[in-house]
Amino acid sequence: MEKAYKFRIYPNPFQKELMAKTSGCTRFVYNQILALRMDEYKTKSKSFSGYDCIKMLPDLKKQYPWLTEVDSTALQSAVQNVDTAYKNFFRDRKKFSFPKFKSKRKAKKSFKSKMNISVKEDLVKLPKLGWIKAKMTKGIQGRILSATVSLAGSGKYYVSLCCTDVDIGQLESTGAAIGIDLGIKDFATTSGGVKYANPKWLNKSEKKLIRCQRRVSRKTKDSRNREKARLKLARQHEKVSNQRKDFLHKLSNFLVRNYDVICIEDLDIKGMLKNYHLSKAIANCSFGEFVRQLSYKAEWYGKQLIKVGRFFACSQKCCVCGFRNLAVKDLKIREWTCPNCGRHHDRDINAAKNILNEGLRLLSSAA
Ligand SMILES: [Zn+2]
Repeated sequence: MEKAYKFRIYPNPFQKELMAKTSGCTRFVYNQILALRMDEYKTKSKSFSGYDCIKMLPDLKKQYPWLTEVDSTALQSAVQNVDTAYKNFFRDRKKFSFPKFKSKRKAKKSFKSKMNISVKEDLVKLPKLGWIKAKMTKGIQGRILSATVSLAGSGKYYVSLCCTDVDIGQLESTGAAIGIDLGIKDFATTSGGVKYANPKWLNKSEKKLIRCQRRVSRKTKDSRNREKARLKLARQHEKVSNQRKDFLHKLSNFLVRNYDVICIEDLDIKGMLKNYHLSKAIANCSFGEFVRQLSYKAEWYGKQLIKVGRFFACSQKCCVCGFRNLAVKDLKIREWTCPNCGRHHDRDINAAKNILNEGLRLLSSAA
C-alpha cells in the first residue's frame, strides 16, 4: 500500500533560495513542454507522447543551462505533469479542462523529487538540497518513492513523502452499507438519518477567511498593505485547510470503519470550480477533500466507494415509492410528505436514501 506523510520543514536561507529556483524551473519546463506539444499539434496535427517529452529535457537543458542547477528528477516530474494533464483531459472532458500555462504569480509553488531521498530523526535529505530540518509527527513506514516540496503562501515550507510497501493493517468487514448526501447546511446527512454539521470552529475560521479575502481585494494593487493582507489571508487559508482536513479525517475514518459499502454523489468538479460564490467555493473544497479521503481509505481497507450520478441523488424523488414531487425543487423546503405514498420525508435524509438505493442497484448490476 502507498501512503503519504506530510510535515513541515525548516530550510536554511541557501535551501530556501534553491527551493524557489527549483519551483521556478519546474514551472518553466512545464510551460515549455506544453507549448511544444500545442505547437506540434497545430502545425503537424500530431501529438508527442510522454516519453517523447522526457527525451526533450536534455535539449532544453542545453538551451537553458541554468536548468542544470536544480534537481533533474523534479524537472522530469514537471514533464510528466503535462502528460497527466493531457491524459486527464482526453479521458474526461467533463471533469478536466485543457492544460493551462502556469503563471508565475498564481501557480502553486512546489516540485516533486524522485530519487536519493532519505530521513533520519528530525531531518529529510533531498537531492541538491541536502539535509533539511523537519518536524516529523509520525514515524515513516515503507520505502520512499517521492518527495513533494511545497512553498505555502504563508511562508511555511512542507514536504510530503510518498511511501510504498506500507503496512496499513486491516479493518473487519461489517456487511453494512450507507448513502451520504453532502450539503451546505449540514455537511453530511446519512441514509441512517444522522446529520453531521460543520463544526462551529470551522465555520468561524471560514468566515474569518472570507473577511481576509475581502480585505485583500480592497487594498490598492502592489501596495505594502496589500502584501500584508495577502500574507494574513494565506495563513488563514492554511489554518482552515488543516482544520477542515482534521474534521473530514474523523468522519471518513468512522465511515470506512463501520461500512463496507459507501455511496456518495458523483460531484462535478469542473462545474464546481466555475462557481465563484465564495462560501459555495469553500463548501466545494470540503466536498472534494472528503471524497478524496474516502476514495483512498476505501482502497486501503478494501471497502467500496460507489459514486452515484447527480440525477439519482435527486431530492425530489420519494425514496419509498419513486414518485417525483416537483414541488420540492425549492431549496427552502426542508421537509415534505409524498403525495403518492404518504411518507413524510426530511429533504436530505430522503436524498441520502436515494443515493444508497441507486448505489446498491449499481453494485448488484455490476456483480
Ligand atoms: Zn412516496
